[in-house]
Amino acid sequence: MANTAVKTLKNYINGEWVESRSGKTEDVYNPATGEVIARVPISSTEEVDEAVRAAKAAFETWKRVAVPKRARILFKYHQLLVEHWDELAKLITVENGKNLKEAKGEVQRGIENVEFAAGAPSLMMGDNLAAIATDLESAVYRYPVGVIGGITPFNFPMMVPCWMFPMAIALGNTFVLKPSERTPLTANYLAELAEEAGFPKGVFNIVHGAHDVVNGLIDHPDVARISFVGSQPVAEYVYKRATANMKGVQALAGAKNHSIVLRDANLDHAATQILNAAFGSAGERCMAAAVVTVEEAVADSFIAKLVQKADNITIGNGLDDEVFLGPVIREQHKKRTLKYIEAGEKEGAKLVRDGRRDKAAQEKGYFVGPTIFDHVTTDMKIWKDEIFAPVLCIVRVKDLDEAIQVANRSRFANGACIFTRDGGAVRKFRENIDAGMLGVNIGIPAPMAFFPFSGWKDSFYGDLHANGKDSIEFYTRKKVITSRWV
Ligand code: NAD
Repeated sequence: MANTAVKTLKNYINGEWVESRSGKTEDVYNPATGEVIARVPISSTEEVDEAVRAAKAAFETWKRVAVPKRARILFKYHQLLVEHWDELAKLITVENGKNLKEAKGEVQRGIENVEFAAGAPSLMMGDNLAAIATDLESAVYRYPVGVIGGITPFNFPMMVPCWMFPMAIALGNTFVLKPSERTPLTANYLAELAEEAGFPKGVFNIVHGAHDVVNGLIDHPDVARISFVGSQPVAEYVYKRATANMKGVQALAGAKNHSIVLRDANLDHAATQILNAAFGSAGERCMAAAVVTVEEAVADSFIAKLVQKADNITIGNGLDDEVFLGPVIREQHKKRTLKYIEAGEKEGAKLVRDGRRDKAAQEKGYFVGPTIFDHVTTDMKIWKDEIFAPVLCIVRVKDLDEAIQVANRSRFANGACIFTRDGGAVRKFRENIDAGMLGVNIGIPAPMAFFPFSGWKDSFYGDLHANGKDSIEFYTRKKVITSRWV
């Protein structure tokens, strides 16, 4: 029976909290308990149109607001996010399931994006050359592009939206966000704080929903650019359809990240880092370690350490202080994960730790314990597909060359890590690996806000990545003026 006490979230359009008229909703769950915590409206394309029209009207005044004045609003926003750090983190844990410490870290990552965006006055500066010929000069000026549409995934309900709207808005654009329908609560809180910080009406809008809202944004003639983060098939779809509509698109997609462990590595350190990278946030990170390629010479001792550490993990509700591993996002995602574990067994990989047997996996909530497969090969489905859950594949290799060959066979190329003390090996890895974000003796090499989030191959569609200088290019366009003063 439907729980009628649960609130239906509102859209945020033109500075007003408005009920969706679509009449359609979806339940939002706390994945640690299976309880319905809210309902999210599945809005219509008409509602997208209203938000885009509001954003388009707001753009006409917002683009003229002096850049330092815009930056000051971002400073105020920063202050409010810092003040509300704990509430934001708790909301993330409740709707996403990651533990509170990870959620606090996510808030930090989001705040760093606001810090970066508050530098808009210097980031937006142009260039000039006083003498391109006799008495002739040229200068480049940067301008915002207009209305930006942002479409985000469930796994980072704060950080990923913060990759987009603070910088886009600081640079003078206006924004319509379509958060994940599975984790929509944090987005509304971000908008409440944005309003308090002084974002003018229509500058930041939220339309909740699913594919209709996405299609509404990518088809809308008044949306200039699309920032998308999500799974590979949807990223490809959004990229193709939005570019066919002549929009600029950055579409960050799925991953299958490889970590290479060489025989000279500090194995204990490598096991701790990989444990965190594979099972932290329930493996639901685009930078999660999904595959370890380990040199045969140290494979047994490395795996023994890893399994021992995995056995010591506390699984449960992320609000409890001692919990490391929370639930996956939905019951359906748990079922999908269990199917992959069955597939791995059928394909002949050796299950050295079975997360189905952990006590929490039998309880309410969508828990899967840390699962480790040894003797995985690149023809197996568990190696090929992004499972996006606490399932780690181990491939034994004879040396670094083979480890690089294995990683480069993947269609994905988001992150890759190496564990070694050998500088020559690091150089070979850096020069030959197909991945956009590399780590040396660290498990999750996620770049900070001022560097690009730079996946390759099927992990990214577009030219300009999220964050860093790429984001300034993506959210601005240029005028070059050539002048002769006679
Ligand atoms: P998802 O693709 O299911 O959803 C992402 C967004 O697209 C959501 O807002 C969703 O409503 C929308 N969407 C889903 N199906 C759609 C469809 N058929 N048509 C139109 N829109 C649709 O992704 P998710 O499960 O929420 O997030 C996890 C995925 O995101 C993983 O694959 C992960 O690797 C990826 N991700 C990538 C990065 C990166 O930087 N490359 C970062 C975070 C997450």
